[in-house]
Amino acid sequence: MFTYAPAPESTAIVDLKPSYGLFVDGKFTDGSGAFKTINPATEEVLAEVALADEADVDRAVAAARKAHKKWSKMPGKERGKYLFRIARIIQERSRELAVLESLDNGKPIKESRDVDVPLVAAHFFYYAGWADKLSYAGFGPDPKSLGVAGQVIPWNFPLLMLAWKIAPALATGNTVVLKPAETTPLTALLFAEICQQADLPPGVVNIVTGAGATGAAVVNHPDVNKVAFTGSTEVGRLIARSVAGTKKKVTLELGGKAANIVFEDAALDQAVEGIVNGIFFNQGHVCCAGSRLLVQESVADQVLDALKRRMATLRVGDPLDKNTDIGAINSAEQLARITALAEIGSAEAERWSPPCELPSKGFWFAPTIFTGVTQAHRIAQEEVFGPVLSVLTFRTPAEAVEKANNTPYGLSAGIWTEKGSRILSMADKLRAGVVWANTFNKFDPTSPFGGYKESGYGREGGRHGLEGYLDV
Ligand code: NAD
Repeated sequence: MFTYAPAPESTAIVDLKPSYGLFVDGKFTDGSGAFKTINPATEEVLAEVALADEADVDRAVAAARKAHKKWSKMPGKERGKYLFRIARIIQERSRELAVLESLDNGKPIKESRDVDVPLVAAHFFYYAGWADKLSYAGFGPDPKSLGVAGQVIPWNFPLLMLAWKIAPALATGNTVVLKPAETTPLTALLFAEICQQADLPPGVVNIVTGAGATGAAVVNHPDVNKVAFTGSTEVGRLIARSVAGTKKKVTLELGGKAANIVFEDAALDQAVEGIVNGIFFNQGHVCCAGSRLLVQESVADQVLDALKRRMATLRVGDPLDKNTDIGAINSAEQLARITALAEIGSAEAERWSPPCELPSKGFWFAPTIFTGVTQAHRIAQEEVFGPVLSVLTFRTPAEAVEKANNTPYGLSAGIWTEKGSRILSMADKLRAGVVWANTFNKFDPTSPFGGYKESGYGREGGRHGLEGYLDV
């Protein structure tokens, strides 16, 4: 049989520099030190990146404060023009952005090319459209920007998380100091170049790179008016405590342990695709990953057989290979976390992975499922943030709801059924910010996204995403 095997995406399109500076006041500058970012698929150093300390963050906040004076007073239509320009440049440079994202993050090129980067452009287009319509957004006649937004993001969707944060902040007249994750700083710095190319006024966007201490310096800076954080529930808690009682407005997008619920009347082939997409997309490094499969007992064997057959076809390997389904785990640290939780799971339940040869260098984890899982198991309660699925069964819709809601999290859920009335009644009872029906991991800039319970508070995306950046 003929199989089409395209050559891996070339890295030649990326102008990878040996070192990168901080982006402050429209210019690249040195930091107080430097750190290295590596390619998780090869463990090779990609570049050295400036490390921002408190003094560097202070410079960035001062630049953002100065820029806010004019940016916030600029007519919304003019601000919108900058956002449209940024969106178009993202489209023009989409291959470059996608390759760099896959190099620094380890995600398959077909995902960075077809999902991440198009969504990034879509968010800038979407919020560009809001910039001159804020008085029609239902927040009163003249809602005001907050000032300087300090934004801290994780490594799983480096560019997309940046877009979720920067696009609404700029549309509403705020200026930004953003800190990308320490393992994936490169596309944020390429985005800074795009801001220069778009002639964005200096200081409107500032990018400070570094680890947790740099993030803390951003969050705790006294002249920051708004804190937007996406990351772990643990760090989210620290941040909520540190900003309590200050003038800062906060939104937190935290962890998840979503249930993907399959009823016996579902189109089971489609459901199996949805289960695979739900947990193996982006190596399972997804806050809203469908990491708990709840399958109705009557079809459990059938679904599991089909799921295992499908998992055996997944290709794990080179992120730049266009046929790769599962790329590299983002860091040695994350691989150690996944491995440790999977070992706990092995003692609790039955573990299965398809035969799969993993590359000798880099960070890899085979797609894995646990069956015979009960609600009390740690593998059913804790966020793995990797390609690991826990399978539980249920008999009645009420039992499915009870099990789905039985974690500290509440970010997302999925329902697979042919019954429309069941979709509506289940969605109403599931304590989750997003409920997908007969699909999973679908994102759109027009839809708000965010958590219940320990998954955080506030919404990003859609009209609701404007609210966190406005004084109403
Ligand atoms: P993390 O909390 O370790 O780090 C997130 C960011 O916070 C990084 O930039 C990090 O440098 C910074 N940081 C660390 N300590 C800090 C501190 N004390 N003060 C300020 N900043 C600090 O999370 P992670 O491992 O990068 O990301 C994985 C987590 O993110 C998962 O739990 C996942 O569910 C969550 N996540 C949530 C969403 C969502 O929208 N709800 C989206 C993506 C990821």
